[in-house]
Amino acid sequence: MILLEDILTATSQFTQGLPVNRYSFLFHFENFSAGAWEHNLSSEYVFNESPLEGNVAKEIKSVAAHEFYHVITPLNIHSELVGNFNFEKPTMSQHIWLYEGVTEWASDILQLRDYLISLDDYLADMKTKLIINDNYDPTISLVDLSLHSTERQDQYGNIYQKGAIVGCLLDIRLLELSKGKKGLREVLNQLYKDYGVNKAFSEKDFFDDFVNRTYPEISDFINKYIKGTEKLPVAGYFGKLGIEYKEFVGVDSSKISLGFGIGMKDNKFIVTRVENSVPNGIRTLDFIIKVNGEEVTLQNAQAKFAFMKNMKVGDSFVLTIERNGEQKDIKCSMEPRTIKHQFRVLDDASEQQLELRSAWMKNL
Ligand SMILES: [Zn+2]
Repeated sequence: MILLEDILTATSQFTQGLPVNRYSFLFHFENFSAGAWEHNLSSEYVFNESPLEGNVAKEIKSVAAHEFYHVITPLNIHSELVGNFNFEKPTMSQHIWLYEGVTEWASDILQLRDYLISLDDYLADMKTKLIINDNYDPTISLVDLSLHSTERQDQYGNIYQKGAIVGCLLDIRLLELSKGKKGLREVLNQLYKDYGVNKAFSEKDFFDDFVNRTYPEISDFINKYIKGTEKLPVAGYFGKLGIEYKEFVGVDSSKISLGFGIGMKDNKFIVTRVENSVPNGIRTLDFIIKVNGEEVTLQNAQAKFAFMKNMKVGDSFVLTIERNGEQKDIKCSMEPRTIKHQFRVLDDASEQQLELRSAWMKNL
């Protein structure tokens, strides 16, 4: 399939040669999408049957790039906890931010660097990741998300968003410190050479290992954004590339927003995050049991939530939530949509910014 040739070429350039001699992509096209799974030397995909063009092709390429990059991490770059995974008594590695988040980062940037996607496409994807990240609890660090991935299924999805955003910022910081000589790609390619399928890194010492391979300043980055939960410095870091970023742009009253994020836990809908500005009494971790008095389940959710599409700002509805085992009705109203996460590539960037941007946009 021509789609995958593109991805394999781009990956090969990113990883300095393909990491495997043989690999199978197994596609199944259905009347629904069910996602993708990776194995050591193959990956499986279930996608909706539709013409392989435009956004559909882009999406398939992107997912295949992610799954294929798992040959690098975790297959070749992992801790002993993954190398000798105990399926009976699983102990999670604190480094899932690397196996999933950095993989997601790599699968995007390798496409940018081989001209499969444009800078605008890349920034649009980053915007989507930032919007989804807003639906999750910002007080859980990437390390905690990794360690508690099984108990915090309601938050775990964010490893792919926040993990990839942090991967991107780490790359920019490394390029800045090395004056455009060594980014995250170069560190990963070295890790891949030094470790491998049969040689795990130390679960406990990996952060020190990473800092020793790079710069003392990276310790501070890890403490703040991987182990810690400090607000991500998106504007500051993209600014170094001469790309302006604004978190809040304004409010669009012609569009509606719930004002909170919804996820799944134990097959029930759960509130994953509430925007500070919304005064309706909904809280993070409330289970949503009914909408306007009618029970909502995974099976009927699409139908039960459908009425919201036609609502306007100020229109109200009642949610029955369950909190600490007790049910409670809460009147909610549709909020105006906040316009957030806008990127703008500056035409009048300084020479220094342009230099760093050019290093960032290519495989060094
Ligand atoms: Zn993955």
